[in-house]
Amino acid sequence: MRCSRLLPLLLALSASVAAEVRLATPATSDMADRELAEALQAAGSLERAAGAVNARVQLPQIVTLRYASCADANAWYQPEQGEVRICLSLARHLAALLATQVDDEAQMLEALDGALRFITLHELGHALVDVLQLPVTGREEDAVDQLAAWLLLAEGEGAGVLSAASVFGSELSGSDDLAAVHSLDRQRFFSLLCWVYGSDASRRDSLLADWSLPPERAAGCEEEYAQLGRSWQRLLAAHAPAAPESAPPAPGVGPDAGSESHASGSKSPDQNAGPAADGPVP
Ligand SMILES: [Zn+2]
Repeated sequence: MRCSRLLPLLLALSASVAAEVRLATPATSDMADRELAEALQAAGSLERAAGAVNARVQLPQIVTLRYASCADANAWYQPEQGEVRICLSLARHLAALLATQVDDEAQMLEALDGALRFITLHELGHALVDVLQLPVTGREEDAVDQLAAWLLLAEGEGAGVLSAASVFGSELSGSDDLAAVHSLDRQRFFSLLCWVYGSDASRRDSLLADWSLPPERAAGCEEEYAQLGRSWQRLLAAHAPAAPESAPPAPGVGPDAGSESHASGSKSPDQNAGPAADGPVP
């Protein structure tokens, strides 16, 4: 009789724990790709991106996240499998782009970590829109760029967002296809600069002088960033993980504070029908 009551509780607990973004083994049979995947896994970029989402959202299902061998330098979310794949060729592409913009290997690896985390959070944003059935008006690509930037900036990771901006601002980055689902790379570049400007006063002089953020755009960036933060916070609030019962609230901390303060990791086919590639730079 005791078991009849215990089993449903255990099953409920198991389901609750299992439904999260979960890092999976790389999908590759290529030796060089496998070695690269192991090195990247050790750096922890994907793990931190997954942690940022898991800290803020209780998913209704597992979303797997893995590196993979692919023909193109790409990344995407596959709704049918509930899976995000980050191509190892994309990691190589990003490393080559970023290596031209930094002074040494350590800086390149740091920049690569930031760019990979942004791209992974962008793809996980597509997953959240799908599995949580989040409303989106306008381009979903822009909305999940906002989410990725917001999650990184909420942890003070402006450098990571700027690494992603460097990729979009590079002359070697993807096409400027006016009919594409993404905003143009240069638009994504300036939007990321704007959101960093809006979130971090200490970077504003540099963004204007060194990154050429136009003052006309900068004038609205504080409100632009505040608005996207309010919007994503509201969208995710209904899906916040339950607070542990044993943990009493800190003095002066209201019930809404948990979703803002929990991120333990880093704090980022597109369309509804089938796996859509996310472009040369997702
Ligand atoms: Zn996308």
